[in-house]
Amino acid sequence: MADIKTIEGVDVRGKRVLVRVDFNVPVKDGVVGDDTRIRAALPTISYLVEHGARVILMSHLGRPAGEGYEEKFTLAPAAARLAELIDAPVVFASDTIGEDARAKAANLSDGCIVVLENLRFDKREKKNDPAFCKELASLADLYVNDAFGTAHRAHASTAGVAALLPSYAGFLLAGEVDTLSGMLDAPERPFVAILGGSKVSDKVGVIDALIDKADTIIIGGGMCFTFLLAEGKQVGTSLKEEDWVERAGEMIQKAKAAGVKLLLPVDIVAADAFAEDAAKVTCDADSIPEDMMGLDIGPKTEELYASAIAQGATVFWNGPMGVFEMKAFEHGTKAVAEAVAANTQAATIIGGGDSVAAVNKFELADQMTFISTGGGASMELVEGKPLPGVEALR
Ligand code: ADP
Ligand code: MG
Repeated sequence: MADIKTIEGVDVRGKRVLVRVDFNVPVKDGVVGDDTRIRAALPTISYLVEHGARVILMSHLGRPAGEGYEEKFTLAPAAARLAELIDAPVVFASDTIGEDARAKAANLSDGCIVVLENLRFDKREKKNDPAFCKELASLADLYVNDAFGTAHRAHASTAGVAALLPSYAGFLLAGEVDTLSGMLDAPERPFVAILGGSKVSDKVGVIDALIDKADTIIIGGGMCFTFLLAEGKQVGTSLKEEDWVERAGEMIQKAKAAGVKLLLPVDIVAADAFAEDAAKVTCDADSIPEDMMGLDIGPKTEELYASAIAQGATVFWNGPMGVFEMKAFEHGTKAVAEAVAANTQAATIIGGGDSVAAVNKFELADQMTFISTGGGASMELVEGKPLPGVEALR
């Protein structure tokens, strides 16, 4: 995948550069909350500013209806936050391809930035509508995609516009693609993949792909109960997907045949309700009480998983081990996060919305090698699916 061109070394001085960023940030009362995504785009934006480009930023925010302006989805707060973070003039255009956007893009000076209004106020964005792509392209001389988080969508701003302008990858997108495809194509071994989260059905492509690549697969989270069922165990009222038991069994067999170690929990923290204050017991994985649900991995499993993680030279983690949002059931996820962080010899790569949230919650983010900013996009890349936003840059 090293064949996507970044903007590094491209002559951008005096050029209008249309950059797709992911400024899909939480906003409350007109103020940006977590600004991680804006900060993640700063290397690309600063590079362009420092090299004298006229920078036109576009993004979506939330899920507007696509029928025009909706105050709660305006990008104005994101533009204001960017202005605080970057040492360059930032103006905001009150439309996306309308009069204000065209005027502000045309009148930009070198090293200055305009942020366009939410792309998804126009339903043609998600439809990758050719006329909309053309309008976007007409604003600029060059196109840069730095929105890895939406690279799995073939929208006007992520795919269609790339065919109309000389196109490059921003540093965030290029870093994501390099790291994740490097991990899949040539991992340092042993390669340990930890998979959790809620459902097998959500992650089947990822698990399947990783059985082909990894040396050890560790399974936790809600999905582990479908695997335990495939092993003939009773799982009480735990989250289970009856329709996926057979498929889970096939994956266990596939791993065995390939000589891949597939680890399942040996003990479970089970509760009598899906609640913080539920009564809970720790039991072996083959004796979950009939009327209880597993909400976390148990201490023996934590130990087993931690020692497998310690052996890895590459460690990839997606999906929490339990219902980590509740303090009563966060222990397994925390133990795994700590084990990953403690393996300082390994390349440690975290992908997925909730796994990243867990790592942040336990304040271990700075101890990981790489934290992916793209939930869905990183999962599709790991599954081996081509990402339209990346393919469009080739
Ligand atoms: P990611 O966003 O990292 O890819 P997922 O979205 O697949 O992860 O799964 C995260 C969710 O899985 C969390 O909300 C967590 O509470 C839930 N989960 C984990 N373990 C269990 C369990 N044993 N039972 C029910 N839900 C679980
Ligand atoms: Mg999630």
